[in-house]
Amino acid sequence: MSDRLPGFSTLAVHAGAQPDPTTGARATPIYQTTSFVFNDADHAASLFGLQAFGNIYTRIGNPTNAVLEERVAALEGGTAALAVASGHAAQVVVLQQLMQPGDEFIAARKLYGGSINQFTHAFKSFGWNVVWADPDDVASFERAVTPRTKAIFIESIANPAGSITDIEAISTVARKAGVPLIVDNTLASPYLIRPIDHGADIVVHSLTKFLGGHGNSLGGIIVDAGTFDWSTGGKYPMLSEPRPEYHGIRLQETFGNFAFAIACRVLGLRDLGPALSPFNAFMILTGIETLPLRMQKQCDNAKAIAEFLAGHPAVASVSYAGLASDKYNQLARKYAPKGAGAVFTFSLKGGYDAGVNLVSKLQLFSHLANVGDTRSLVIHPASTTHSQLDDAAKVKSGAGPDVVRLSIGIEDKEDLIADLEQALGA
Ligand SMILES: *Cc1c(COP(=O)(O)O)cnc(C)c1O
Repeated sequence: MSDRLPGFSTLAVHAGAQPDPTTGARATPIYQTTSFVFNDADHAASLFGLQAFGNIYTRIGNPTNAVLEERVAALEGGTAALAVASGHAAQVVVLQQLMQPGDEFIAARKLYGGSINQFTHAFKSFGWNVVWADPDDVASFERAVTPRTKAIFIESIANPAGSITDIEAISTVARKAGVPLIVDNTLASPYLIRPIDHGADIVVHSLTKFLGGHGNSLGGIIVDAGTFDWSTGGKYPMLSEPRPEYHGIRLQETFGNFAFAIACRVLGLRDLGPALSPFNAFMILTGIETLPLRMQKQCDNAKAIAEFLAGHPAVASVSYAGLASDKYNQLARKYAPKGAGAVFTFSLKGGYDAGVNLVSKLQLFSHLANVGDTRSLVIHPASTTHSQLDDAAKVKSGAGPDVVRLSIGIEDKEDLIADLEQALGA
């Protein structure tokens, strides 16, 4: 064996997986079982007391899911990961470990529309207060910090316009405030950006998007960077204080640099219950094997399509960080040199009606609410994903009435351009 560290594409195929020790199966089997037999009573007791690692019940862990967790942790450069049922489940499980009623977290205003909803409405009912900041104005994060701030949440490449966030600058604010930086890396995937390399403490994903990549399975994942000290100042009692349900152990003291991933599993997932089906874990693992190939092709296609749109007379403007003229191009060169992602927006001279009209005329693009599929997708955010926002908030989050969002797939770019051409021209 050489002592070379495996590269990203090798990890995407192999990390976490071995031939099945009993059958030799080369693909990771789907362990479609709810529960696992204990060796004896002592083994059972030690598993329940967190004195030994092992399988108990699929709500808490499953061998197929474990391969997925190890693979994504390796791709992101984290110490450990926890797979859950969806991207939204990942967000609620992460924040449940950090927040007490009355606490605050700061979130970038440019986010996936569903996250804006979750933070504004569902989290409010838990007593968790979101404070919005502008990802283009790092000082706005600094100004938002209070003694009750427990975390900062941003997207690496932000919905819907594919803008690039200055992760390092915001991680400096988080470090100064003594709170973890959580980065939703869904639109970039670790192939384009590894937020932990830029100061993130926790990475979350909707696996539903580019990692699974085929538009067929929901999933989410939490990656622990292992960088944050949870014991300072008694701010994070879930991690630093004795846990009554586990014989009084303190998670940070016992599990060190993967304590956060453990807390998410043995407190969050165990009690809230959004477990990922092993079948979905298998589908997503299969998807991840081709992530580098798909992501590169999708970025290359997206750039060609953004250039085509920028030159079209019906188009008022294109927001794609991969274009040299884009305001995020400098940040894209720094954070995502392989490509600026495959999700971006453009605006039409004809406003809201032109957006609705375009969406109805496209044939190869599917009109639906998803991103990161092999298929190219289109949506008009103002009438769908961002429709719950008032007009000013729509514009602030990059989803004004004239804006159309594309998620570019792996088809031939000439066919995608031809479809846009007929729909724009007609
Ligand atoms: C889709 C998405 C989510 C939510 O993920 P689900 O798997 O749909 O729950 C969160 N963040 C981003 C950036 C997304 O695109």
